[in-house]
Amino acid sequence: MLITDVKLCLACSKGLKGRIDKKFCNYDCRNAYHNHFKSCENNFMRNVMNAMRKNRQILQQILGDRKIVKTHMDRLLGRGFQFKYHTSVYDNKRGGRYYYCFEYGYLPIDDNCFLVVKRKTAEQ
Ligand SMILES: [Zn+2]
Repeated sequence: MLITDVKLCLACSKGLKGRIDKKFCNYDCRNAYHNHFKSCENNFMRNVMNAMRKNRQILQQILGDRKIVKTHMDRLLGRGFQFKYHTSVYDNKRGGRYYYCFEYGYLPIDDNCFLVVKRKTAEQ
């Protein structure tokens, strides 16, 4: 007697009959499954983009009209800054690393403090 695992539809978890390589009962289940993954991927991207947009806004508010501002980590965290998200990094000649969220960036310095800066953009 041949024992086969009962394969389940990846979308609705019903047992599958037919071809061994089948993954879904039908096209509806296949579409539902792929749409779900697409929306998860979109949610992830949206969350990351929102976090980076918020980071940028926080740096912008702290910097205001000034060219450079020293601030403490708690001030950034208190506003919801997420350090894991940035758009680019820039290493200066003195071994410091700037982290940018779009045109606004910060340079970690001593005692959990940061220098907040703005990069010159092409429009300026
Ligand atoms: Zn199904």
